[in-house]
Amino acid sequence: MNEKYLMNVLSKNGIKSLRPPQKKVLTEGILEKDKNFIISIPTASGKTLIGEMAFINHVLENSPKNELGYIPSGKKALFIVPLKALATEKFDEFREKYNKFGLKIGISIGDYDSKENLSRYDIIIMTSEKLDSLMRKKNTTWLNDVSVVIIDEIHLLGDKERGGTLEIVLTKLKMLPIQIIGLSATIGNSEELANWLDAKLVVDTWRPVELKKGLYHPDENKVNYYTIEDYKVVNGENGENKQIKPLKNFGSSKSEISNLIVDCVKNSGSCLVFCSSKRNAVSEAKKNDLAKYLTNDEQGELNNLSSEILNVLEKPSKTCEQLSECIKKGVAFHHAGLAMKQRKLVEEGFRKRIIKVICCTPTLSAGLNLPCRRAIIRDTKRFDGKGFSNIPNMEIQQCIGRAGRPGLDPYGEGIIVVKKSSEVGDNLYMLRGKPEEIYSNISNKKTLRIFILGSIFSGEISSFGELKQFMKNTFYAVQYGDYEKIVEDIRDEVIFLMENGFIEYNFDFDDSDNFDNFDKKEDFPQKIENKGSKIELNLDDKNDEFKINSISFDENGNLMTGKNKNNKNNKNDKNNNKNNKGKNGKKFNYEEYELIEDASTTFKSTKLGNATAQQYIDPLSAKYISKGIKSIFEMKINNKFEINQNTENIGDIEQRIIYMICKSTELRPSLRVNKYEYDDLVEEMISLKIYEYEDYDNICAYKTSKMIKDWINEASELEIHEKYGVEAGILNYKIEQVKWIAHATREIFRALELSGAFEEYDSVKGLKTFIKRIIEDLQLRIEYGAKSDLVELLGVKNLGRVRARKLYDANIKTVADIGTNREFVIKTIGKIGYKVFDELKIPYGDLSIVDADKLKSTSSDKTEG
Ligand code: ADP
Repeated sequence: MNEKYLMNVLSKNGIKSLRPPQKKVLTEGILEKDKNFIISIPTASGKTLIGEMAFINHVLENSPKNELGYIPSGKKALFIVPLKALATEKFDEFREKYNKFGLKIGISIGDYDSKENLSRYDIIIMTSEKLDSLMRKKNTTWLNDVSVVIIDEIHLLGDKERGGTLEIVLTKLKMLPIQIIGLSATIGNSEELANWLDAKLVVDTWRPVELKKGLYHPDENKVNYYTIEDYKVVNGENGENKQIKPLKNFGSSKSEISNLIVDCVKNSGSCLVFCSSKRNAVSEAKKNDLAKYLTNDEQGELNNLSSEILNVLEKPSKTCEQLSECIKKGVAFHHAGLAMKQRKLVEEGFRKRIIKVICCTPTLSAGLNLPCRRAIIRDTKRFDGKGFSNIPNMEIQQCIGRAGRPGLDPYGEGIIVVKKSSEVGDNLYMLRGKPEEIYSNISNKKTLRIFILGSIFSGEISSFGELKQFMKNTFYAVQYGDYEKIVEDIRDEVIFLMENGFIEYNFDFDDSDNFDNFDKKEDFPQKIENKGSKIELNLDDKNDEFKINSISFDENGNLMTGKNKNNKNNKNDKNNNKNNKGKNGKKFNYEEYELIEDASTTFKSTKLGNATAQQYIDPLSAKYISKGIKSIFEMKINNKFEINQNTENIGDIEQRIIYMICKSTELRPSLRVNKYEYDDLVEEMISLKIYEYEDYDNICAYKTSKMIKDWINEASELEIHEKYGVEAGILNYKIEQVKWIAHATREIFRALELSGAFEEYDSVKGLKTFIKRIIEDLQLRIEYGAKSDLVELLGVKNLGRVRARKLYDANIKTVADIGTNREFVIKTIGKIGYKVFDELKIPYGDLSIVDADKLKSTSSDKTEG
């Protein structure tokens, strides 16, 4: 596609001309399909459009036959974003812009092991974790059609938690014939990043609207505006110390951030106030009342919005009420505690310019398209778990970069509030915004564990040698000029995976008879002999065939398992032999064990490994889960388990299962435990025989598990908020995560069952089925927050927990009951009943006489969670 065609496509979306940085990437050759790019330009200057230019070039080709002149090319583009919320925003935007060209836009942010079919889309939006999980699946051949990948906010490679996965994905991508377009905020070492990706670097400081940067001095109630030159002056770099003239003096006696806000709103501007915490955002919002600057129309719309906010949840929480009150005054707050729907309402209200001010946490700065006239940084430090530290310059720039709405504001203003005069120097440094460098985070242990297991599972990597080779291509290797350090780290993780039964050596001896004559080390094939006496051989005669798990020889070089290795009848001998080798012969003895690093010795993943990789969870979490399940078996066995007598103990088992789920690394950070609740929680743990209270993190995980248990016993969001201080947004996020791990737990249970891990408990009749049942029901119960009696009804789409409970209480307890009591169902739950029948393929023709509108009052369309 040439420039003319590209411009033609863009013009159909109202783009008349390109902005300077966009022109620049074009001249630099973005339309050459094999040329990678890193584009580092300020927030809001039009990075997304650069991504669009790149994908248009790949996924559309011109066709004289089509009236628009274009048809899809059959190639695919991936658009990678850091957050699910951003994915939805881009999805809506691209659908609106590109459906008309016949392009199908897809979004993939759901479960990691979902069976969704993405092959029919031309442009697919997803997170880097999602791409990582897709790349390891075997049925994703459509990935071969991907010819361009756009990575929004590629500088997040430097993120401690998630950066490593992005680095792994990029390392894989750069070895494929795919164009990589990285869109980046300004970072200190963009050149290094570009070199690694063999990419052309385009840096530009152009902005659509001028940005004035200033400091607000509350003691003098004025803003001083600074340029980079001023920075040097104030800090004495020029040797002199000039006084800088204030450009704006508010003159009012009260010196508060409100002055900055009112001044802006009076001049038909809007403000974002960035605060360090949720609490600060709320308290700042509450301080402001803009009622007297609002028109009647605006006040009317705000009142509507205010009541809409109250209705989002089943019962409004304190946060809802506070937000609703603030909104009446033209002000809102926005943070992770709000329910998704409330956040959307606030964002929309602000875009429509009814809400004049949003007080928010810096999470809002990352990506969301929410420009304002004046961006105010209220706090430059935040609590990071240990103490207060400076917010990185990069983030400050992203926040103040939000200022200046094209076509609406003559200029934008980014203003930092000075807290102490001694901090002026620091504040100016932030304002000037020398960006930080980003560093590789691939050595994060969790990232490595997930990666190594995943790539062995998918077959992308099969030996330690290949693993080392892969590491040579990472950003880490470029950045440190040496990859040996990381080899140490991967060695540890491979050993972890082996010790815990996720992977094993792939000794391909198909025919165990071959071993008949092997009594001594010398008899073994070269391949194994090379491993020396460090490896144990345990023989395992499950299914009447011997399988080699590991090998060992005595000091004379004799095979320690002796002659009985192939004698299926001689159980006693074998058992004697097994005694010192762990229960099921699969245990590696770490001390004796040395990693085989040559390329010809390959690994494969076990059943447990497969399930863990497929569910895309941390192997450490899977270890906690499998240990947890086994400990429940043990406990029940010791308790002389009997199903009928023990039903009152189901709650305890549930609690233990949820606890082991909440221990998983995906659920961190857990709820914090304070000193007043500490003792009670420990006592409860002991009574449940969870003897893991030495570790504070486990007590926190236990507290989280209690919250989840309340949720699945139908506590309302409000009750949970009051009891645990957890707001809707955070609760919903936790529920999402717990649901994912609960599903993984079910798969891990199955894998363990298939590998015979529970055989020793078979003697207690019914125990396995009992535990399995609890685990299987959990996923739905967590999703909806409901007791186990509702499980069958919850399986019906559109019903939800509130309506399901209504039906259940009215004695409609099963899907069959719904079918036989249709009129009653409609009466109980209203119109939605028709949807339910549709879903269940139950005809309701003769029921259409029931006037659903009249029934409205009895139905509740609200769903929680
Ligand atoms: P970024 O991704 O850099 O933060 P966006 O891509 O969201 O910024 O762009 C900000 C706004 O500018 C969007 O509303 C976008 O439609 C608009 N925009 C981008 N490029 C152009 C252009 N060439 N002409 C007109 N508007 C543009």
